[in-house]
Amino acid sequence: MVETFENFVNGRWVPSRGAAMLEDENPARRGSRLGLFQSSTPEDVQDAIGAADEAFRAWRRTTVAERQRHVAEFLRQLEASRDELARIVTLENGKTLRESRAEVESALVEGRYHLHQVSAFYGHTGPGAWRDITTWVQYQPLGVVGVISPWNFPMNVMCRKTLPALLTGNTVVFKPASFTPWSGVFMAGLVERAGLPAGVFNCVTGSGSLVGAPLVQDPRVRAVSFTGSTEVGRTIQAQVAATLTRTQLELGGKNALIVMNDADLGEAVEAAVTAGFSNAGQWCTSTSRILLQRGIAASFLEALTARCRRMVVGDGLDAATDMGPVAGPGQYQDVCAAIRQAQADGARLAAGGEAPDAGAPPGYFIRPTVLTDVSPGMAVFREEIFGPVLAVSEFGTLEEALDLANNSAYGLSSSIFTNTLSAARAYIDGIEAGLAHVNVHTGYKEPSMPFGGIKQSGAGLPENSQTGLEFFVDRKAVYVRA
Ligand code: NAD
Repeated sequence: MVETFENFVNGRWVPSRGAAMLEDENPARRGSRLGLFQSSTPEDVQDAIGAADEAFRAWRRTTVAERQRHVAEFLRQLEASRDELARIVTLENGKTLRESRAEVESALVEGRYHLHQVSAFYGHTGPGAWRDITTWVQYQPLGVVGVISPWNFPMNVMCRKTLPALLTGNTVVFKPASFTPWSGVFMAGLVERAGLPAGVFNCVTGSGSLVGAPLVQDPRVRAVSFTGSTEVGRTIQAQVAATLTRTQLELGGKNALIVMNDADLGEAVEAAVTAGFSNAGQWCTSTSRILLQRGIAASFLEALTARCRRMVVGDGLDAATDMGPVAGPGQYQDVCAAIRQAQADGARLAAGGEAPDAGAPPGYFIRPTVLTDVSPGMAVFREEIFGPVLAVSEFGTLEEALDLANNSAYGLSSSIFTNTLSAARAYIDGIEAGLAHVNVHTGYKEPSMPFGGIKQSGAGLPENSQTGLEFFVDRKAVYVRA
């Protein structure tokens, strides 16, 4: 018997006004059904926005301390449910249980950071230019905000957006990705258990076109925090042009790892494996291009491909698994097509490329793949593949490496491995990316640091850090003569 899940609107669990349902599949087991979720309609979205709009009247007047108490209770619920939630993330996303636990842990760390940070957040005062004038900047909540999340971090991205929005006094309508509705609905259950007032947080499952688009375009929605592909990010930016709705867009990447001749090769290979193949290469900050200085290229590749061959690919629930499946059938076909296209374009397959380990369950498995002899004209160099595929190119000087790394429409994350301070400095100054790592893999991040891309990897204020809260407030310049 497959369980059916409802939307969470105005503090109640409700079915969609339409009859259609969304099936959730475990990508490690083709054809499995984890649950049935509402394939909601634009009318359902309007109901949720209406509830959030109504709830905003009272929620905006709560004190910061009251909101902190609610969010602290939510985080307690999250912590108490961490094992159950990690299992759900693995079941519907495919990542290993170890990775799912790390995702929940990351949401807790970021949530606690924002919970405390908001106490010290509120504006600043100053003496006016005239003797009897005082000035201050007053931060005020926006109103209803739309949160739209991707499937690769189905619960962490939701928290990173929703908790700052609530702490600053906004109400939320959340749309989980259609591949991973269970994690989203589970999070809504935690909000319910935490006792937030009805309508302050609402969750509506369904497609991008029937739920995401109406949410973005509704004039009652004051801001949209979106994480997903650059293509959909562009669509959203165009859709909000009429209402000038504020957007925070965290988008795709084509992240480069540069390895210099003087690097610690063992560490650099581990960085490539961690950021290349964690979550089956489906982090937005996954390493996807490797740029090798010629002196170490052969030895680096030998070590990397040997490491790839040892990796166990299988069901994320199995403790022996190093890497799970990609997230679904569309993703599987796209990644396989990209590997075939790269070979047709002249790249050499140095590892992987083929389907699963013998005996693995029939899911969407792709082995860790390394393509060498990649040049900037090839699609595999330019396009985000979002799978366990590393495209390797070689260079002579650091200047050439930076030219290669920056030869991309994207600018999310990056990394260099070197033991020369001047090379590290030149890379930090020259790399076109929102995240620059030295001797650290491309996926590393901390909550006190801004998280966001430049170029076509992002727009609007970054998540986390101070900007993670700033995105959700209006600034009012106040002048008082007294
Ligand atoms: P996606 O763009 O296909 O979907 C993201 C979300 O947008 C989903 O909930 C989807 O249903 C919704 N959506 C689709 N069309 C919409 C529309 N017209 N209006 C409003 N919403 C719509 O992305 P995905 O496949 O779920 O996730 C993978 C992508 O996300 C990759 O490109 C990855 O790099 C990116 N990503 C970026 C970050 C970051 O922080 N920069 C983090 C994680 C993932």
